[in-house]
Amino acid sequence: MNYIVLDLEWNQADGVRETEKPEMPFEIIEIGAVKLNSEREMVDQFNELIKPQVYHVMHYVTRKLIHLQMSQLEKGAPFPEVCERFLKWCGEDPIFCTWGPTDLSQLQKNMDYYKLQPLTDKPLAFLDIQKLFSIAYQDKKTRSSLSDAIKLMEIPTDIPFHRAFSDAYYTAKILEKIEDETVLSYCSFDTYRTPKKKEDEIRIRFDTYAKLISMEYPDKAHALQDKEICSCKCYICGRKCRKKIKWFTPNGKHYYSVSFCDKHGLMKGKIRVRKAEDGNVYVVKTQKLIEAEEAEAIRQRQIKTETAKKMQAKTGTGQKVKSSKPENFLRAVLRR
Ligand SMILES: [Zn+2]
Repeated sequence: MNYIVLDLEWNQADGVRETEKPEMPFEIIEIGAVKLNSEREMVDQFNELIKPQVYHVMHYVTRKLIHLQMSQLEKGAPFPEVCERFLKWCGEDPIFCTWGPTDLSQLQKNMDYYKLQPLTDKPLAFLDIQKLFSIAYQDKKTRSSLSDAIKLMEIPTDIPFHRAFSDAYYTAKILEKIEDETVLSYCSFDTYRTPKKKEDEIRIRFDTYAKLISMEYPDKAHALQDKEICSCKCYICGRKCRKKIKWFTPNGKHYYSVSFCDKHGLMKGKIRVRKAEDGNVYVVKTQKLIEAEEAEAIRQRQIKTETAKKMQAKTGTGQKVKSSKPENFLRAVLRR
């Protein structure tokens, strides 16, 4: 089993001489990667430029960031060739690792553009080292830049940042240094491909929270009618919980609830409704045990949300939503 720490650079339409192709808004122009064995020791590296097929003008942001000229890229091989070599180099069942959550979506989108064999037909598990760094050394929520993280870890910076290989190398350096093995169990899922049916849904329990990545629904209303999504069963013991704060949404995208398990105490529920690549929606639901203070903060947020809605209703700028009875939740949601 290998860890494959990868970083991609991509170019996009400059908007003047070239217009965006929606099926490939970001064209990968460089793949850099470092291979670590199961002991997390660096054992190999991959570094290739890609000859562009879609965008032939360098976007000014790309040029500024990575200091690459089109003439250099012209010497590279086309994406399908490089990608094939890269995946072969990765070996069987690699654990992909990236700094931040975006690279694997872009890789899969570029692969689709050239109709290459997909990496997977489901969400792709990977390690987001930026997140793991925060779990190991920060407050779990902060997301530092790679250069800041390198500084914090006092890792020597012998090569410049912002090229695919150097960023993969520095990300690998951080992965090497994470001492607490349990941090590596906090895997992420790239949802470029979302679950298409119930059996493919992702249900995963970490030591402090549980996560569900749902199948696709035609719209938000259908998603929120799903019993499992709305349910407030305890993720640890499966008991039915008492609802303390019914589902509410401050913004129409995120929903919150607080319930109480007789055995495990207060539990926060959070639902995020997200757009899938094909225009459908899917839901990421998390449940987490919380302290009374956090429950109180959620209650304050709920009150604020309800007040804002009432104000809107009064001034006629929004639709009136009746507050407070739990069974009103779905109806209220459907009306939005
Ligand atoms: Zn419980």
